[in-house]
Amino acid sequence: MPIFEYRCRACGNELEHLVLESSPAPQCFSCGSHELEKIMSRSAVSSEGTQARAKQGLRLKNRALRQDHSHEEVKRVAAHAADHDE
Ligand SMILES: [Zn+2]
Repeated sequence: MPIFEYRCRACGNELEHLVLESSPAPQCFSCGSHELEKIMSRSAVSSEGTQARAKQGLRLKNRALRQDHSHEEVKRVAAHAADHDE
């Protein structure tokens, strides 16, 4: 089964998408954008060991990005709440 890697044009998040016949269009799980750019899959040329390491690195990167996002979200919500207090 082919696995493609994409980079989100909206937030720069990188994700792997397993392509099945019935698959919906890939979506960034960090910001929800469908604006994804297909990038060269590393898994096609690497061994299982490097694949696992690459996936681990991807997970760590995604987690860091999610934290950034939730941080931004908190600031937005706080700003919003402040607006309504006026
Ligand atoms: Zn995104």
